Amino acid sequence: MKITKAGSAASAKGPAEYFTGSVRVDAPFSGSGNLSAATVTFEPGARTAWHTHPLGQTLLVVAGLGRVQREGGPVEEIRPGDIVWFEPGEKHWHGASPEVAMSHVAIAEALDGKAVDWMEQVTDEDYRGSK
Ligand code: MN
Repeated sequence: MKITKAGSAASAKGPAEYFTGSVRVDAPFSGSGNLSAATVTFEPGARTAWHTHPLGQTLLVVAGLGRVQREGGPVEEIRPGDIVWFEPGEKHWHGASPEVAMSHVAIAEALDGKAVDWMEQVTDEDYRGSK
């Protein structure tokens, strides 16, 4: 048994290449295999860039009000208790709602050492769901 104590890893800022707005990453977890997880908090209006995960991704929404979209689908609201699964290779983004922050635990397995492939930023038009 191993307990990693709360507060043992510093909060990290989501880099501007991959995120729009203010994003904080806490409690990064890396297992002995290919599984990794982290708690990600998006301030209002903040979101990831478009991206895919080679082996898919699960989001457990733990606080606030958020938005997700898969390519070709509508922008959808997510709330605490919702569980979101993205298929391997499914292009998508996730983030907060315009007025309310959102936190989720993001869980993914890496393939050949990589758990995400980043793409272009989500435009304001995409984010509003107005196209
Ligand atoms: Mn994702």
